[in-house]
Amino acid sequence: MIKTITSANLPVDETYEIQKNHLVLGNGKKRICIVTGTHGDELEGQYVCFELQKIIEKQHDLFDGIIDIYPAINPLGLESMTRKVPFFDLDMNRIFPGDKEGSLVEYVAYQIIQDLKGADLVVDIHASNVYLKEIPQIRINETQSAGLIELAKQMNVDFIWEHSASTVLESTLAYSLNDIKTPTLVVEMGVGLRITKNYGNQLIAGLLNVMKYLGMYHGETVCKEPMISTDKNVFFLNAKEAGLFLPTIAHDYHVQKGQKIGEIVNPLTGEVEEEVCSPCTGLVFTLREYPLVNEGSLLGRILENQK
Ligand SMILES: [Zn+2]
Repeated sequence: MIKTITSANLPVDETYEIQKNHLVLGNGKKRICIVTGTHGDELEGQYVCFELQKIIEKQHDLFDGIIDIYPAINPLGLESMTRKVPFFDLDMNRIFPGDKEGSLVEYVAYQIIQDLKGADLVVDIHASNVYLKEIPQIRINETQSAGLIELAKQMNVDFIWEHSASTVLESTLAYSLNDIKTPTLVVEMGVGLRITKNYGNQLIAGLLNVMKYLGMYHGETVCKEPMISTDKNVFFLNAKEAGLFLPTIAHDYHVQKGQKIGEIVNPLTGEVEEEVCSPCTGLVFTLREYPLVNEGSLLGRILENQK
């Protein structure tokens, strides 16, 4: 059943409306919420919402519980291919928990939290941005990791990254929900403006597995063992020069310390401005997809092999 969470008229003849598909199956006791479309340039979660519903339709007698699917938390952004909320120029994931008495977007954020509050699990699916490609991973604020790691392990992702508090902002949807004891996992996978079907299918398998763990699904499931790390083993690769980044390795590739990862070239002079080499032996789990870089641009991230 399609439900409207909140609806408000905009001055520009548009409506700001957040909807969910509310599916009540079997005993309807536990509730999982699949949220995506917070950033309008991220589409990987759209595929997950669609394909998951096909599975639910086919195997509905194997499910017990409430599955709420919110494909577009920032519908205006999705419609206009804009990361932020257009007209307001606000990052939707920097205004939670919102404010009942606040501006329109703050009010919408407040209503979203009210609707998600109390779920047994919320999964917030992101797709990096248009610049970087990510392997399927879950990012957890280390101050909130107790209780979440066990759920994250059920999600069939490659990597669980326990961030330090300073790198995960307090105004995100996930932080706000975890703060009020509604367990929320943030998935990052793929790249902006694209759909990576194999990643989507991997995450759907994880959603079924976590539902089984919660007693909401009774079919067969699979789940891979994720790598788990804090910031300590994550190395950032930043450009020292501006130019065109041409990687010489594939994404999701194991590199040796000192191995060449790519080069930054100058299309005007034909010169190689910088040879980019790996600072450690490990997995390139983030790799730049958009080739133009400035000094300081992120080229990739490597998860160092743990002894
Ligand atoms: Zn995002």
